[in-house]
Amino acid sequence: MFNSLSDRLTATFKNLRGKGKLTEADIDGTAREIRRALLDADVAVPVVREFIARIKARALGSEVSQALNPGQQVVKIVNEELVGILGGQTRTLEFAKQPPTIIMLAGLQGAGKTTLAGKLAAHLKNQGHTPVLVACDLQRPNAVKQLQVGGERAGVPVYAPHPGVSSEAEVPTGNPVTVARDGVAHAKEKLHDVVIIDTAGRLGVDQELMTQAADIKAAVGAHETLFVIDAMIGQDAVNTAQAFNEGVDFTGVVLTKLDGDARGGAALSVASVTGKPVMYASTGEGLKDFEVFHPDRMARRILD
Ligand code: GDP
Repeated sequence: MFNSLSDRLTATFKNLRGKGKLTEADIDGTAREIRRALLDADVAVPVVREFIARIKARALGSEVSQALNPGQQVVKIVNEELVGILGGQTRTLEFAKQPPTIIMLAGLQGAGKTTLAGKLAAHLKNQGHTPVLVACDLQRPNAVKQLQVGGERAGVPVYAPHPGVSSEAEVPTGNPVTVARDGVAHAKEKLHDVVIIDTAGRLGVDQELMTQAADIKAAVGAHETLFVIDAMIGQDAVNTAQAFNEGVDFTGVVLTKLDGDARGGAALSVASVTGKPVMYASTGEGLKDFEVFHPDRMARRILD
């Protein structure tokens, strides 16, 4: 009957209008609804627990306002907390005073890094930048080729270790750190103002991958390191995000595959455990399926 969390919360409090203060008993029913909604949205269990505790603490003893009924008031608190965890304001890229701005992508294999690289390049090109893509995923067969195809679609050049790698499943040899360094030197020479570096991922977090990503970051002095994560990853989001946060100390998060069934709970999990903002969302395989992330919109998606 009540489909959205907002409706359910408002219903829980239907009879409380005019009450002076919200009591623990009033809030317990609400907490149950919020917990269920967050778990349905695939927010990680420890994150849900902490969130509920915060909501309870804020709601408990808060004056019931004249303007809002208690249900609306709790919805407002939940919304504010969600937006806060998700970074508050929309955070966009910070460009280096001295170009080129170096952006590195990191994440598990299959997260959508290579796809995102093309989209981000197209997005920045539309804003008047002159990006170049650098292919440092020398692990996954075809990753270089895939980046070249993405670059072509975006109308953005690609710096790759072997220009013209064309055979079907060729994995170029070479050191990704050297390729990254050479790519940045190339960008400087050709006056590109942004460098987007695609890096290798593994199916699970592993130390070698993390060390390689950290080495690339240090070698080129990346200004922004974006952690790319599949929104469908569910409860694993916390561990993966923590590992990447420790390994490469990323500056922002990109949530991919938001076009699927995922309700976006991973955004909340990652932002909550790392304190890093979600900056972009990917919503499909096409170049245009890309958006700047808005914390308030995501909060609404979870609440509605
Ligand atoms: P990488 O290993 O991190 O570079 O991942 P890829 O960029 O190769 O993406 C893995 C798969 O996910 C590919 O089949 C992509 O087409 C697909 N993919 C990437 N982003 C999205 C997205 O936002 N939505 C959907 N539905 N598929 C995506």
